[in-house]
Amino acid sequence: MTPRHHIPDDLLVGYAAGTVSEAVSLLVASHLALCPDCRSRCARLESIGGAVLESVTPTAVSPDALSTMLAMLDTPAPPPPPRPVLPAAFADLNLPGPLRDYVARSGQTDWDTLIPGTLHQVTLPVSINDTPVRLTRMRGGFKVPQHTHTGRELNLVLTGGFHDRGEGFGPGDISDRSADVTHALHIDPGEPCVLLAVNTHPLVPVGVLANIAKWLVGF
Ligand SMILES: [Zn+2]
Repeated sequence: MTPRHHIPDDLLVGYAAGTVSEAVSLLVASHLALCPDCRSRCARLESIGGAVLESVTPTAVSPDALSTMLAMLDTPAPPPPPRPVLPAAFADLNLPGPLRDYVARSGQTDWDTLIPGTLHQVTLPVSINDTPVRLTRMRGGFKVPQHTHTGRELNLVLTGGFHDRGEGFGPGDISDRSADVTHALHIDPGEPCVLLAVNTHPLVPVGVLANIAKWLVGF
């Protein structure tokens, strides 16, 4: 898997600085797990941030700060928590680690069905501006109704692929659509497409068919 569409610069800088929301952090961390190029970019940003911190004029600390820190270093770190076991319905997705933890914590043991055989989702225990973050699975060949947004739409492809406004997206790719874009995703024929979908604000359907679809699937 070699992603062709990477994390936008503003999100990667925010991630490295720790200023992005939990939802965006999940999206970025999941892509980083799949993309060596972005891991290198992120490491460079973090080293720049470290150099900036080192250049800051030092301030006085308490006299016992050193002994406290050394004591902390001598304290063995607690063992990492056991990795959650995914329900069988998600076991074959080969999810990146950060996303796997969220799916496990969702408490869902299977996909929610919105359109039988076509559209399924898992609502993750994280949201942004009251808009839930979801894992979405769509059958090959499905066309997501045309819509626009009141915010930014970010998708990370996990399996399968789709086309949008002439661009193709496959496993590991991130699509980034701003609030002023009206578009429709065309899922590639073949295997189902599974996306991590992060919308910073609710979608706005366009046209009669989209309104029907909204009533059906509630997005
Ligand atoms: Zn990347």
